[in-house]
Amino acid sequence: MAGRPAGAATTNAPPGAQRCINLACGATYGLRERVQLCPRCGETLEIVCGLPASADPELMRKQWTSRRARRAWSDDPRDLSGVWRYLEMLPFANDAPFVTLFEGNTPLFDAPRSAAYCGLLRLRLKHQGYNPTGSFKDTGMAAAMTQAVIAGARTAVCASTGNTAASLAAYAARCGLEAAILLPRGQVSPPKLAQSLDYGALVLEIDGNFDVCMRLVQELGEDPSIYVANSINPFRIEGQKTIAFELIEQCQWRVPDHIVVPGGNMGNSTALGKGFQELFDLAMIDRLPRLSIIQAEGAAPLARLFARLDFNRQRGGEDIPEKLEPVENPQTLATAIKIGAPVSWKKALRAVLRAQGQIISVSEQEIADAKAMIGRDGIGCEPASAATVAGIKKLAAAGQIARNDDVVAVLTGHALKDPDYMIGYHEGTLSLTSVGTKAHESFAGTFRNPPRRVAATKAAILSSLERQRSA
Ligand SMILES: [Zn+2]
Repeated sequence: MAGRPAGAATTNAPPGAQRCINLACGATYGLRERVQLCPRCGETLEIVCGLPASADPELMRKQWTSRRARRAWSDDPRDLSGVWRYLEMLPFANDAPFVTLFEGNTPLFDAPRSAAYCGLLRLRLKHQGYNPTGSFKDTGMAAAMTQAVIAGARTAVCASTGNTAASLAAYAARCGLEAAILLPRGQVSPPKLAQSLDYGALVLEIDGNFDVCMRLVQELGEDPSIYVANSINPFRIEGQKTIAFELIEQCQWRVPDHIVVPGGNMGNSTALGKGFQELFDLAMIDRLPRLSIIQAEGAAPLARLFARLDFNRQRGGEDIPEKLEPVENPQTLATAIKIGAPVSWKKALRAVLRAQGQIISVSEQEIADAKAMIGRDGIGCEPASAATVAGIKKLAAAGQIARNDDVVAVLTGHALKDPDYMIGYHEGTLSLTSVGTKAHESFAGTFRNPPRRVAATKAAILSSLERQRSA
């Protein structure tokens, strides 16, 4: 249950292992071993869940449906949480000390105005911003903090552009762990900072960008009392992959043609790709949806690499380049994806290649206008999330997405995560002000909707309404 005190929990060991993603290495480590990167070759790890031989996909599917139905009255985290509902697919035993804030269970919206904007007949938005701390990070954090409790950690740490910080702070508080958060000073939106403070985390502002914070956190992980909960942590990917399971249930097991996600540190795309692959391997779905990643132009190392790849040689193969050329000074107002050296790039690229997807970038103007359009659907999201709709518009224009394709965009954060951005867009003051190639570039809000000052009379208000209607 939620709210467990810290300290190593005794729980049955589930089947499964942590495996190095470098096929030439292939080292495996126990689920309880405290490793970040592969000690043998330095590559990232992923979890291989050992499903019991008796696992029956049809039975699991029924189990998930009945747990969902019990939500109205149950107090069991496996019924209430959109992560723990899928326990059979996760590297945790039935008696694990499940940490939960009832994450997941997020809506899948129809977005007709955004669809028309992209040139599609239909577009649906899976909104992970409806999670407890307002971002997609919560599903992964439920799993990571449960693992931290099992490991007997005292403190959980992460580097963050803001959303991970808020999520870690909340989930650590929930299970009685200390939380320490490394943030790039002055680069985190006030609401995200406020959340971390409110949940009682030790917030450490670092002079350096996200990538600097990330390096420091990896060093801190050498201390046995410290549990690193960055997106390098493979247990977070396990929690996050449940979005694929929940989405496919919401689609009544009909696989969408195309799934589009924003790309920052790439944990999200990695997790979605893994989730769908596992369903496919169990024959619970008959094909993989195409999976595409959208980056912001000023922080698009993977889109650049993807553009250079020789598709014919790469597709269907595992032949992924060894190095990603990082963007030294990433620039974008979509702070949640302002990442120049994404840690999970290799796993994400592999998932995209397997799923026949694309990795492209979009401009600040395109992100801002797409965000306003999502707002017109009554939905709203943080800027990084809107990169998806901007990317879908671009992919549709390039013929990569057909007009009648069944497309789902994953929105990652709540609109209120960055209110200054919205005000700036609608008042026409939005601009990239930091140093870099695009310094001081300002752009017009195509769908600007500034507040109007009117006299305090009924006639003045009615005449404003009239002007709006005829606009
Ligand atoms: Zn290795």
